[in-house]
Amino acid sequence: MILLLLALAATPFVTLAAQAATDSSPPYVARRVADGVYVILGDTGRGSEGRANAGFIVTSEGVVVVDALASPRQGEALLGAIRRVTDQPPRWLILTHHHPDHTFGAVVLRRAGARVIAHPDARTLASEGGPSALLADWVRVVGLDAMRGLEFADTPDRPVSKCDTLRLGGRTIVITHPGAAHTAGDLMVWLPAERVLFAGDLLIEDGVTMVVDGSARALRSALDSIDRLAPKVVIPGHGAIPRSPRVLVARTRDYITGLESEMRKAVEGGIPMQRALAALPPPDEHRPVSLNSRRRRNAARVYVEEEHRYMGLEDASP
Ligand SMILES: [Zn+2]
Repeated sequence: MILLLLALAATPFVTLAAQAATDSSPPYVARRVADGVYVILGDTGRGSEGRANAGFIVTSEGVVVVDALASPRQGEALLGAIRRVTDQPPRWLILTHHHPDHTFGAVVLRRAGARVIAHPDARTLASEGGPSALLADWVRVVGLDAMRGLEFADTPDRPVSKCDTLRLGGRTIVITHPGAAHTAGDLMVWLPAERVLFAGDLLIEDGVTMVVDGSARALRSALDSIDRLAPKVVIPGHGAIPRSPRVLVARTRDYITGLESEMRKAVEGGIPMQRALAALPPPDEHRPVSLNSRRRRNAARVYVEEEHRYMGLEDASP
């Protein structure tokens, strides 16, 4: 089991061909979702493969950007989209978590004057081999050209490990850590006046959130927090903005609770992990976040969670 997780950790997040295609795409278009609140929609219909979503909030004292996309080139395109909407300079960049497809454009925003708000815990499976291994993997994913000028820029100037409220130019932006659901460093960005929520990868358009860097239990609790906020608009980490936030949250909850009960039954029945996973389609080779790969990798993670719970090692699931 440990071997399986380590092997998966070494694989990049999206395919080379897929990402290269998005890098040569036309300029990004900012879509307004509320007064002064914009989304740069990434790829849709592809789950968590391809370009992630980002967003920004325009205030009279500067711009607050949410997520920085996957490379300096994507960061430049994001900055271009912001500049087409406003002359205000970027003041803050909030990172919803530390996966490279959301952070490797951060250096561009930082050079443009933004300071970084992020959770201080940047650990993920993908970064276990150290920064150079992560970078080498990622260069293979997005191509050397898109990565020119990269510096690691996700270290927070303003770390948030619980909750923080940013007040800027009459806007209120609440940043909270919902628990280690998708990753240890998850943050949600909530605009209470506009009732807009940037959920990061806690939500993916198809309802299959990855928990290999987090846990199913923490995801369930994060989903409950989202429901309590009752957002009017929710921006998932990847894919289309759902017509009903509640429906996407429910779909995600159904998926994860279903997986938990399946794996619990297997553990309690003494069925080994490989056999418990055999009913699922195999993961796609070279596509570690395709739907099949996410399902399979999550199942392995949740099996281990259930095994720990069964053995009374509750600390394994925050
Ligand atoms: Zn992610």
